[in-house]
Amino acid sequence: RDTSVTDPATILHQVFGFPGFRGVQEQVVGRVMAGRHTAAIMPTGAGKSLCYQLPALARPGTGLVISPLIALMHDQVRAATALGIRAATLTSADDNRAETIARFRDGALDLLYAAPERASQAGFRDLVARVPLSLIAIDEAHCVSEWGHDFRPDYRLLRPLLDAFPEVPRLALTATADAHTRADILAQLGIPEDGLIVAGFDRPNIRYTVTPRDGIGKQLGQLVQRIPGPGIVYAATRDMTEKLAAQLGAGGRAVRAYHAGLDPAVRQRNQADFVASEEMVMVATIAFGMGIDKPDVRFVAHAGLPKSIEGYYQETGRAGRDGEPAEAHLFWGAEDFARARRRVEAEVEEARRPGERTRLNALAALVESPGCRRAILLRHFGETPPETCGNCDNCLAPPATVDATEIARKLLSA
Ligand code: ADP
Ligand code: MG
Repeated sequence: RDTSVTDPATILHQVFGFPGFRGVQEQVVGRVMAGRHTAAIMPTGAGKSLCYQLPALARPGTGLVISPLIALMHDQVRAATALGIRAATLTSADDNRAETIARFRDGALDLLYAAPERASQAGFRDLVARVPLSLIAIDEAHCVSEWGHDFRPDYRLLRPLLDAFPEVPRLALTATADAHTRADILAQLGIPEDGLIVAGFDRPNIRYTVTPRDGIGKQLGQLVQRIPGPGIVYAATRDMTEKLAAQLGAGGRAVRAYHAGLDPAVRQRNQADFVASEEMVMVATIAFGMGIDKPDVRFVAHAGLPKSIEGYYQETGRAGRDGEPAEAHLFWGAEDFARARRRVEAEVEEARRPGERTRLNALAALVESPGCRRAILLRHFGETPPETCGNCDNCLAPPATVDATEIARKLLSA
C-alpha cells in the first residue's frame, strides 16, 4: 500500500474500497484522528474494525489492537493483509514471533494484534515504548467489565499499558453494553464521558419470534423447511448440537455442526462449507459466529435460552447482514430458567451474582412480554424505540389475552 497517503477519505476508497462511511464510523474515526480517547458502542456488523484500521493507516505509527480471541485476530490479520495492510499477530500460537517483533520495531507494521494477557506484561510495555503508536484499540471492550456478560480479568490489567502512553488515543469497541457496562468501560479504560459514541442498535430487517419449546426437533424441522436459505441454530451443549444436526440432516437439509469438541480441522471445514453455501444450516454452540462474515444468513434460531440479552442480540445479529429480510427464533422452556438460576447460585462467585440475576430477569422479561420484542431489546441498549415495530411476533399477531398465570406456573414449576 502507498504509505504516503494519509487522508482518511482517500484511504477509505483506495484501501478498503468503500464508497463512504457507515453510520457513526465517520464520527468515531474523526475523534481518533484528532487523538482523543473514544469508546464506540456499535452493533455487530456495523463495521467496528474500520474504526481502528483506518486511523491506524492515516496516523503515523503502528496501531496496537487488543483482542480476546486468537482465532479472531488471525481472521482480522488475514482480511487486513488481503487489503494490503501490514498487519500481524503476536500470540502464543505464532511461531514467527521474533520476526513480528522485528517488523514492529522497524515501524514496518500498520497493525499489531495482541491478546490482553500479553499486552499487560511489563516486557511488552518496554517493547511498545520503543515504537511510535498511532492508537491502541481495545476490541470487545465489554470484557473489561465484571458486569458485562463476558468478563475477562486480563482486560483489567491493561490499564498500566494505556497509562504508560497517555498521548496515544485509545479506542474501546464493543457491540454489547448496557448502561452499567458502558460506564465501567469508560472508568476502567480511562475514557472521558464525552468520548462515548453509541450507534443505533435496531436491525429492522430481522423479525423476532419467541416460542415456548414443544418438541424442538419438530419445531426446527418446520422452520428449516419454510426458510430455504442459510441459517444458524444455536444449542446449549455439544451433545444437543450433534443431536439436532442429525435430526435436521435426516430431514434432507444440508447441515453441519460446530462446537469446541470437534477436531479443529473438521470445525474449520464445516465453517468454510457453511460460509460458501446458499442453503446450509449450521447447528452450533455459541463458540460459532464471532468474526464470521456471511451476509446472507436468513435465520438464526436458539434451541434454548441464550446466556443474556447481549448474547441474544449478538447471535441473532448474524442474520440478515445484507439488509434482506431475516428471522430470529427463540425457543425456550421454563427448565432453561431453572437451570440457569441454579447455576448462578451454585457456580457464580458471589460478587457477580447480582449481575447474573439481573441478566436472567431481563431475558425472562423478553420471553414473557406480550409487547414488542424489538422495543425490549432496544430499550435494553438505552434507546427509546416506538411501542410497536410491526416486525416481531407480538406486533404481527398481538396476543389476545395474556395468560400470566400460565407463564407463572411454567416458571415456578421447573
Ligand atoms: P463489527 O466488528 O462491527 O461486527 P466488521 O468490522 O467485521 O463489523 O464489519 C462488518 C462488515 O461491514 C465487513 O464485511 C466490512 O467489510 C463491512 N463494512 C465496514 N465498513 C463499511 C463501509 N463503510 N461500507 C461498506 N461496508 C463496510
Ligand atoms: Mg468486530
